[in-house]
Amino acid sequence: MAKLNPESVVILQKDDLAKLLNILRSHSYQTIGPTLRENAIVYDEIQGMEDLPIGWTDSQEKGSYRLEKRNDDAYFGYNVGPYSWKTYLSPARVRVCNASRSENGFNVVQETGNAPNYAFIGVRPCDVKAIKILDKVFINDFCVDNVYGNRRKQSFIVAVNCTEAGNTCFCSSMGTGPKSEEGFDLCLTEIVTEQSHFFVTEIGSDKALEVLEALSPQTASESEIKEAERRIENAAQSMGRNLNTDRIHDLMFDNYRHPQWDDIAERCLSCANCTMVCPTCFCNTVEEKTDLEGDNAERWRIWDSCFTLEYSYIHGGSVRHSTKSRYRQWMTHKLASWHDQFDTSGCVGCGRCITWCPVGIDITEEVSAIRNSSTVPEETVDQPR
Ligand code: SF4
Ligand code: SF4
Repeated sequence: MAKLNPESVVILQKDDLAKLLNILRSHSYQTIGPTLRENAIVYDEIQGMEDLPIGWTDSQEKGSYRLEKRNDDAYFGYNVGPYSWKTYLSPARVRVCNASRSENGFNVVQETGNAPNYAFIGVRPCDVKAIKILDKVFINDFCVDNVYGNRRKQSFIVAVNCTEAGNTCFCSSMGTGPKSEEGFDLCLTEIVTEQSHFFVTEIGSDKALEVLEALSPQTASESEIKEAERRIENAAQSMGRNLNTDRIHDLMFDNYRHPQWDDIAERCLSCANCTMVCPTCFCNTVEEKTDLEGDNAERWRIWDSCFTLEYSYIHGGSVRHSTKSRYRQWMTHKLASWHDQFDTSGCVGCGRCITWCPVGIDITEEVSAIRNSSTVPEETVDQPR
C-alpha cells in the first residue's frame, strides 16, 4: 500500500492553491496546467484556478474519450488527456541552430534552448515517471540536449496522485502510480467531501519549501494522511487494465515471429497517433530551410514517429517497410529494448495509446495474446524486418 512520509506532509486548503499559483507566477514561473479545450482536457497556460477543468472528468475506453460532468467540484478529477508534458519539454517544432553567411564563410549558432521557467500543475504519477525517463534520453553521459535540458532544469513540478483510475490506465502494473514516489517538487492528493476540499501535500524539494513559506501550511494530521492513502489505494484497486511484465524483455525478443504481429497489422493504420500521445516517445527528424538568397539557413527539429515509412529510411530504402514491422518495432522498443538502452521500461502505463488509437488497439491485450500463445522461433539467424 502507498505510504506518505508524514515528516514532509502538509495541508493546503482549496483557496491555498490559487495562492500557490500566484506565488509561482511571482517567482517568474509560467504556470501550465489542465484546461478544457475542444472537448478534451489539454495542458495550456493557466492564470488561475478558474482555468482548471473544475467538476469535469474523462471517460476513456479503447479508441474513445469523452468528457463528463462530475457530481463534485474536484480540481483534478480526471486522468490523462491527449497531451503530455513532452509538448513543453521537447516541443513538436523547435529550431536547433541557424547559420548565416558572413565575409569569412558561415557563422553557425546553436540554440541555447532558452525558454520560460515552467511550473507544471497537475502532473500525474505516470507522467512524473515519464519525465524521469525522458531525462535519461535527453540528459545523459553521451549528450545533453540543450532544448530539453534547459527547460527541464528550470521546471517546477506539482504532481497530483490519482484517487480514481481510468479505464485505460495500468500504472500499477508498471510500478509508476497511482502514487508519485519521487521526481516532484510538490505532490498533492486531492480530498473533496461535502464539508471540505483540501490537498494532502508532500514536499519534495527545497524549492518547494521556499515557495510554500508564504502560505505557512499546517502539518497534516495522521487521519488526513490515512485518508489520502486510502484514496490512492482505491485507485490502485480500480485500475482499468493490467499488463503482466514478468520476463517481458525476453517475451518480446523471443516472439518476433509470432502470428499476432500479422493480426495487429491487419488492424493498425500506421497513423502514428500512439506515438504522438505517448509521454515517452521521442522520435524526431530534422528539416533544413534556407532563404532564397542562400544567406541564412535554419535547422528545425520536428516530432516524428517510428510508424512512418520515412523514419527508417536509410541508404537504399526503408528498413521497416511493413506496418507489421513498424508496430513490432514500437512495442518491442517500449517494453524490451528500452530496458537495454535506458535501464527502464519505455511504457509508464498511462493508457493514452489505447484511448487515442482510432481502431482501438490495446497494448495490454496484444502482450497478453503473445504471452498466451508464446512461440520461440526455431530459426533465429535472420533479423526481423
Ligand atoms: S506505450 Fe501507451 S501506455 Fe505506455 S506510456 Fe506510451 S502511451 Fe502510455
Ligand atoms: S496502433 Fe493505433 S494509433 Fe498506433 S499507428 Fe496503429 S492505428 Fe495508429
